[in-house]
Parts: sequence; C-alpha cells; structure tokens
Amino acid sequence: MPDKVVKSDTEWREALTPEQFQICRCSGTERAFTGRYWNTKTPGVYACACCGEDLFSSQTKYDSGTGWPSFWKPIDDERVVVKTDHSHGMIRSEVLCARCDAHLGHVFDDGPPPTGLRYCLNSASLELKPES
Ligand code: FE
Repeated sequence: MPDKVVKSDTEWREALTPEQFQICRCSGTERAFTGRYWNTKTPGVYACACCGEDLFSSQTKYDSGTGWPSFWKPIDDERVVVKTDHSHGMIRSEVLCARCDAHLGHVFDDGPPPTGLRYCLNSASLELKPES
C-alpha cells in the first residue's frame, strides 16, 4: 500500500480549487455533463486530484450516458476504498482514494462486462495524465 497522505482541511483548501475541495473533501457531486472528463476519450491515466495516485486507466473508461466519467474497474482494487453511504436518502457505495481519502464518486452494479461495475466519478476528483 502507498503511504497515506494526511492533510488538514486548511491545507487541502490551499492545495485545491474551491470546487475540488467541495467535491473531494466534502463528498460533493459535480452536475452531470459539466465536468471536464465525462466525454474524454484521450488515452492515459486518471490520477487522484488530491494526492496524485494513479487510480483509473482510460482503457477501462466507457460511455455510461450519465454525464460523469465512468470506469468498470480501478487500476488496482487496493487503490480505492468502498464505503456504504446513507446520505440523500439512498444506500450507495462511496468510492474514496485509499491513499488520501478523497471522495471520488460512487460504484454501482450496472456496469459493463467483465466486472459489471460502474465507477461513477467526479471529474473534479481526477487529473488526467495523457499517454505520451
Ligand atoms: Fe488521493
């Protein structure tokens, strides 16, 4: 496992944009079809916007039609943590960065083969590193 990244709210606030802080550190959600990656097809690796850990590959990104960047698996299951989330009157599975606890989005079981999973993430939680 990578070393944990722990920062205070003040430090995160300084390191992130206000939108990133709201989404990554306060479990916010960007509006559908407004994020910078929902329709991106560029080959590369999507890293955590907070700690830089490589989390998802463009090779497992697909068009879910939801308006959020969607993936059917992380680069490594150990790089994300899934937690039960009871907010907003729903029971959902929240996806967090295992290294820095950034809120990434939620995972649902209506994804494509081979996993059947849909990691529905916020663009603001991610930083695409295009393949060179
Ligand atoms: Fe992180």
